Amino acid sequence: MKVTLQNLTKKFPGRGRKSREEVIAVNDFNLEIPDGKLIGLLGPSGCGKSTALNLLCGLLKPTNGRIFFGDDDVTDLEPEKREVGMVFQNYALYPHLTVMQNILFPLQNLKGADRLSKEEMQKRAFDVARLVQIDGLMDRRPGELSGGQQQRVAIARALVKMPRILLMDEPLSNLDARLRLQTREEIRRIQKETKITTVFVTHDQEEAMSISDEIVVMKDGVIQQAGKPQEVYDDPKNLFVARFLGNPPINLFQGTVKSGRLYLADAPVLDTSGIPDQEVTVGIRPEGFSLSKDGHFVCGLDRVEVMGRDVSVIFRHSASREPAARAIISAESQTDLTSSEVRFDLKPGKVFLFHNETEERIG
Ligand code: ADP
Ligand code: MG
Repeated sequence: MKVTLQNLTKKFPGRGRKSREEVIAVNDFNLEIPDGKLIGLLGPSGCGKSTALNLLCGLLKPTNGRIFFGDDDVTDLEPEKREVGMVFQNYALYPHLTVMQNILFPLQNLKGADRLSKEEMQKRAFDVARLVQIDGLMDRRPGELSGGQQQRVAIARALVKMPRILLMDEPLSNLDARLRLQTREEIRRIQKETKITTVFVTHDQEEAMSISDEIVVMKDGVIQQAGKPQEVYDDPKNLFVARFLGNPPINLFQGTVKSGRLYLADAPVLDTSGIPDQEVTVGIRPEGFSLSKDGHFVCGLDRVEVMGRDVSVIFRHSASREPAARAIISAESQTDLTSSEVRFDLKPGKVFLFHNETEERIG
């Protein structure tokens, strides 16, 4: 089911004495979520991700704008009638009910023509339990399950009504690192098998990049950029997006464009034809450096961290915004890293220039 958001806006009135100013939690969203895809809604805490999901499922009414599921305008439709499955961070299972009863619960409230026979309900419950691989745990209570298993139950419960859309709000946050990895792969598999259009909310860029067909990066209620994860990573529209994606993060420098060249601390490091002369903020991805004996990017070696396949070169540079910057090079290319000075060539596709004030990408 395709989902279309048109000028979707949610304002909250200011509360308390100090913060009378209203909050625009979701600000003029225009977005098309393609049928059958998994979309990662990504941004820092407080940027409006949960508000956007709550608008989609109907728990919140928008201040402005419309929501369409396919061709249906669902903006004024009650949550129960939207056929949306929702999974939250904290599972929200009924502790006194068994896994089976938890999964059955949404089906028992179906009314009228939607009512199912007992056999049909049981079959559906077992089908989704098998899908999320908890069919061996049907008689346990949530307290007798691991966090990962509880989250699977929550996913099964969200799927059992065969929703048109699946919404997940930071579903992995309560899991430890290993379970988080495993469960996110599971979610990917389940989504591919069911082909349910899914919106997956997270503040973790790596999680969003690894799981999503497309990511939507948000800041302060505003969509910054949407697209395939790799495309957004390779072609960020502004400094915020460039900094939010990537681990280790992008390195920032203060630079100058003069007569078609980029200078860092008076040294020419890259050709930049077509960009007017100005001061710029320069972002260089850690993988954007290659060791070169006569490279123009000259820096002071701080230390070297060997991590299996890759080597991190931590260095100092007078144009760097941070005390130290990081280059990642392949372990094979590790030649002479014993001197106090290192020289690099820069890979043009990994160097981004941003306007100093607007922080928009200019090259
Ligand atoms: P996220 O899920 O990305 O962390 P939220 O959608 O929860 O962000 O919140 C976005 C902004 O809206 C925040 O500034 C938050 O304080 C505010 N907000 C969320 N819900 C309410 C509410 N019910 N009343 C007032 N402000 C709210
Ligand atoms: Mg949230």
